[in-house]
Amino acid sequence: MKVFESDVVIVGAGIMGAATARTLSRSGLTVNVVEQFEPGHTNGSSHGTSRIFRLSYPDTLYVSMAQEALSLWRAAGEETGESLVVTTGGFDAGEQIEANADALGQCGASFEMVKGADVGDRWPQIRLAPDETALWQPDAGVTLADRALEVFLRVAMHAGVRLHSNTRVESLELSEDGVEAHAKEKTFHGGVAIVTSGGWSAPLLATAGVTLDVKPTRETVSYFAIQESPPTFVEWSNPSIYALPAPGFGLKAGEHIAGPTTDPDRPGEVNLESVERISAWVADRFPGADPTPASAETCIYTNTPDEHFVLERHGPIVVGSPCSGHGFKFAPLIGKRLAELAIG
Ligand SMILES: Cc1cc2nc3c(=O)[nH]c(=O)nc-3n(C[C@H](O)[C@H](O)[C@H](O)COP(=O)(O)OP(=O)(O)OC[C@H]3O[C@@H](n4cnc5c(N)ncnc54)[C@H](O)[C@@H]3O)c2cc1C
Repeated sequence: MKVFESDVVIVGAGIMGAATARTLSRSGLTVNVVEQFEPGHTNGSSHGTSRIFRLSYPDTLYVSMAQEALSLWRAAGEETGESLVVTTGGFDAGEQIEANADALGQCGASFEMVKGADVGDRWPQIRLAPDETALWQPDAGVTLADRALEVFLRVAMHAGVRLHSNTRVESLELSEDGVEAHAKEKTFHGGVAIVTSGGWSAPLLATAGVTLDVKPTRETVSYFAIQESPPTFVEWSNPSIYALPAPGFGLKAGEHIAGPTTDPDRPGEVNLESVERISAWVADRFPGADPTPASAETCIYTNTPDEHFVLERHGPIVVGSPCSGHGFKFAPLIGKRLAELAIG
């Protein structure tokens, strides 16, 4: 049995593991990252060209976290010479926009309530009913998802972090001086283990007696051709629907927490009924888009009952489960928080 020693072991190289590895790569601690597939794979939650970045939340906690995350994304961009967040501005429509406006106002973030009749001239890519009101927030945009993952891992490895790909951790065992992460014919021993294993986290944590109340669902997203790249758009309804620019594709759109509970190890199927609903919504909201989907794919949400994030420490094990379909935008901040929890 080969044993790999380090101060910290990170299980999972999705965006949260990559962001944490990048932060720890400056700490002077030694770090092993263990990933069951090749980084950038499409079986989990972090693949694809883009994710919505927004400040607009009904909760000041998330507005202020997004503000902090935006400055960290920008700092990462300056550090690497890569722009990882593209600002497009964004719309919120539907149920909770008043609460979002309140929270934005309390956090000093700018916004504008726009009447549907006034949208056409300024934003021809978007259609609202004349009597409808939507919230416009100028700092919204997209994070360049697979690019960010690649850049964070590259920076971490350049600074000495070791990545072990195609290596699945089967169990975690507490030891006298930390944790042992057991894989086939290999053990990773560290003073602390950070579990950023996305939809696979709960059963893995259970091997060390840690309970994580999450439910993985398989979500469907569709891609459409569009004449002019639009701002981001979130329609708060039941389920909520969102759309964003997708570099290389045009427009990406999907329903929020609308997919079936899933086992992340089982291959996924696109939900054709969801694709149909989304095409109809795109036809209604984006006059310049071709509502016939060019392609569709699945992606895993790891949902907590209240959609809040789980960032906590249990002895030598740190749990990082910040998803429920809205975690990506916070990745550099989550990386910082998980590193702080690990360093204690
Ligand atoms: C369709 C969809 C749309 C989304 N839209 C947005 C959005 O617009 N804005 C936003 O902010 N967020 C969005 N999100 C959420 C965001 O993408 C996720 O919160 C984020 O990607 C979660 O990253 P993660 O690193 O926790 O998970 P993952 O990327 O799944 O990473 C976990 C990694 O752990 C590895 N792993 C698991 N178990 C083991 C093991 N036993 N041994 C070794 N490796 C293991 C997996 O292979 C995987 O690579 C969306 C998510 C989806 C699915």
